[in-house]
Amino acid sequence: MAEVLKGSCLCDGIEYELRDAESLGYCHCTRCQRWTGEALAGVVVSPENFKITKGEDLVKRYESEFAPRHFCSNCGSSLYDDLGEKYFVAAGLMRELDLEPSFHLQVAYKAPWHEIGGNAPQFDENPPA
Ligand SMILES: [Zn+2]
Ligand SMILES: [Zn+2]
Repeated sequence: MAEVLKGSCLCDGIEYELRDAESLGYCHCTRCQRWTGEALAGVVVSPENFKITKGEDLVKRYESEFAPRHFCSNCGSSLYDDLGEKYFVAAGLMRELDLEPSFHLQVAYKAPWHEIGGNAPQFDENPPA
């Protein structure tokens, strides 16, 4: 998929472009739950295919023992989770995203009230390599 997706945060202070989205999936870990208020629906993309086009000075990075997380320092929108080789970009910011979810990660840690629908494969933690 070579299409370019545009995303913007809640306050529109930050905009970005994303190329060659690889997949859409959910992470149900407790860190994502606290970061977004729920499971994180994210788009997997290579870092070189993700570019902030507006408001780079508003982007804040939260360092944690796991992947650093980037968010808007004005409105608090979750932007992306830096997994090193890939970024996991919050899907809710891209209004033209047209992918079916293809995985659920960290399902062992999901919120008890969250019911997972659809047929995408579910993994207790990460998929087997
Ligand atoms: Zn914002
Ligand atoms: Zn997670």
